[in-house]
Amino acid sequence: MSLTKAEALELFNSDDLIGIGMEADALRRKLHPEGVASYVIDRNINYTNFCTEYCTFCAFYRPLKGPASKEGYILDFETIYEKIAETVELGGTGVLMQGGLHPDLKIEWHEKLLSGIKQRFPQIHLHCYSASEILAIAEYSNLDLRDTIVRLREAGLDSIPGGGAEILDDEVRHRIARLKCLSDDWIAVHRTAHQLGMRTTATMMFGVGETYEHRINHFQRVFDLQEETGGFTSFIPWSFQPGNTALGGRKWDEATAVEYLKVLAISRLFLSNIKNVQSSWVTQGLKVCQMGLRFGGNDVGSVMLEENVVKAAGVTNCTTEEELRRIIRDAGFRPAQRDTLYRTYFLN
Ligand code: SF4
Repeated sequence: MSLTKAEALELFNSDDLIGIGMEADALRRKLHPEGVASYVIDRNINYTNFCTEYCTFCAFYRPLKGPASKEGYILDFETIYEKIAETVELGGTGVLMQGGLHPDLKIEWHEKLLSGIKQRFPQIHLHCYSASEILAIAEYSNLDLRDTIVRLREAGLDSIPGGGAEILDDEVRHRIARLKCLSDDWIAVHRTAHQLGMRTTATMMFGVGETYEHRINHFQRVFDLQEETGGFTSFIPWSFQPGNTALGGRKWDEATAVEYLKVLAISRLFLSNIKNVQSSWVTQGLKVCQMGLRFGGNDVGSVMLEENVVKAAGVTNCTTEEELRRIIRDAGFRPAQRDTLYRTYFLN
């Protein structure tokens, strides 16, 4: 049973953090009775930081023109292959590849890249391209959405990350990312991928001045699509990192641990039709991430051999596989490595 919007609003307005956490923990236990918390070993590769969208919350992008464009890059394929070879050597099972929107990078460039990776590393799971990138590739290549996803999949794309969702309420999107795709567009990409049999993840970036109602609208959109297609593997909420961004904000305005844990727990309760909810160490640090395992989270995300986007906002939490396994064990769970599709396996 999911929460109603009114119940979710009541929880957001409540100070009973522990009570909310216990309810979320009880639902987590029902969905994952085996007492396991999972993690994945993979690498984020950002093939370009050039972007035309100017999202005010983003510290990562560089414009195509003007003085700041000197800091822009497009990785060559050989560099990407080297990064993946390193990932494989270090026990990684997948790659999360995303980039800015660059009109010169049409579908042929992406097909060549994906198939080049799969030829060299057939075992690597390719979890790539946020909804806004897929829509941009379609537009630059004069293709419809469905054909774009089909061609990317035929070239080697295995699943699609939830990036670009931010808050799925256009009132917020107009304020923080005026040029970026609308909520319906994000939903359309994920619906089309699910209809084609692909799995995707859903994310939420909160703490950009949205109201509780905006957050709840976001949950509802994700919940409704999951009811329709069942294609989401997990939900990953994370808080806005204001450093080096136009949207900015003072460090002390950033979401606190209490705020984060509350969002995590309410998302677990609302999205009862999504099996996995991820607790984030990248934005929250290891200690809050560990607490998240008792606030509805059943996964701690990736060991992440490379990460550039959150780092661009000046946040440099880092960890190792051993450390993630230790925080999982100390929270009372059995650690298990998983693949990108949340299939777990145990290490000796
Ligand atoms: S968030 Fe993505 S789309 Fe927006 S400016 Fe940054 S790279 Fe571009």
